[in-house]
Amino acid sequence: MDRVYFDNSATTRVDDRVLDAMRPYFLEKYGNASSLHSFGHEAYDAMEAAREQVAKAVNAAPRDIIFTSGGTESDNLALQGAAFANASKGKHIITSSVEHHAVLHTCQFLEAQGFKVTYLPVDSEGFVSEEDLKNALTPETTLVSIMMANNEIGTIQRIKDLAEIAKDKGALFMTDAVQALTKIPVDVERLNVDLLTMSAHKFHGPKGVGALYVRKGVKLRPIIYGGGHERGLRSSTENIPGIVGMGKAAELGIAEMDESVERMERIRDHLIDGTLSAVPRSYLNGPRGDGRLCNNANFRFDYIEGEGMVLLLDMQGIAASTGSACSTKSLEPSHVLRSLGLRHEQCHGSLRLSLSKFNTMEEADRFLEAIPPIIERLRKMSPLGEGVSYDVPAVQ
Ligand SMILES: *Cc1c(COP(=O)(O)O)cnc(C)c1O
Repeated sequence: MDRVYFDNSATTRVDDRVLDAMRPYFLEKYGNASSLHSFGHEAYDAMEAAREQVAKAVNAAPRDIIFTSGGTESDNLALQGAAFANASKGKHIITSSVEHHAVLHTCQFLEAQGFKVTYLPVDSEGFVSEEDLKNALTPETTLVSIMMANNEIGTIQRIKDLAEIAKDKGALFMTDAVQALTKIPVDVERLNVDLLTMSAHKFHGPKGVGALYVRKGVKLRPIIYGGGHERGLRSSTENIPGIVGMGKAAELGIAEMDESVERMERIRDHLIDGTLSAVPRSYLNGPRGDGRLCNNANFRFDYIEGEGMVLLLDMQGIAASTGSACSTKSLEPSHVLRSLGLRHEQCHGSLRLSLSKFNTMEEADRFLEAIPPIIERLRKMSPLGEGVSYDVPAVQ
């Protein structure tokens, strides 16, 4: 049985052309980019070519791109780096309640270090309000960090407007663009952002490599010390094959964006319309239309536990994910769904399908065939049971 992969917000398949571009840097051109001999030059040149490819993908200058080990490290370097470098100006940071844990847990660390962090709420579709940001800014605010697109519900924030408000008040603006890059246009000049984070494995590049855009003149304190690589901001021998792969993946992702987005949107809308019409008491989490990532569908089914859905789908060869608690090994359900104003029980019944350019309409049809009986079966077994009021606490 062919398996269906609908978990592309977790990670993606490496594009064959990306793998082909990387291969020589494991086997023949394996030099250290700092070495003086020809092996070193080869590695250095490849790294700089990749830096140009990544820079071009976000309309930045190559020297403003720092390679890291992934989205998480980029988020840490941007947040910790800017917070500590600007601590003498102020110790207030603003972010949103729906950020990725790479941002939220870094902010919690900064709180423990004496910074004050404001977590802006979102509306029922996951949008941060400009008004809330205006009201939260103080003369002490040095940094505002709002993600470009949400990894769970696909909400695309109005980054240009939010950045303008923050920068008017003299704060730096950072955005986590890990889910956005290659799915919506990302232009650091048009958006006027100061810091922007990326991760290769979310757009058909390899795992373990990411990048951070740092606007010229923005001061950061490093979080890793050593040999002074990446302008002293990120010491450690550069991951040349990974970096080459990221460059290639960025180049391909941008060149083929229009076509891939259109394809994913058609499949997404088929999944959304098909599911909502086939399954009673099913709902869409997050916005409809332009405010939603082309590759994201996130459903909520009353009276259901997400884990059950994911496991039963997996038995039919369909990979999806849930914001329910048990799967995340913590007892709390998704903080993103909670931020939408959903009750615990409602969050437990969520199912995320996230697409890539490799998915097909036939795969969507396979899901649409599989899901109604799965829901019916789970509802028959559910302690939440149909007709049971949500005000009754769920059986533990
Ligand atoms: C995946 C993801 C990250 C973390 O990236 P890694 O490369 O896996 O560390 C950060 N932010 C968002 C929005 C993500 O989806």
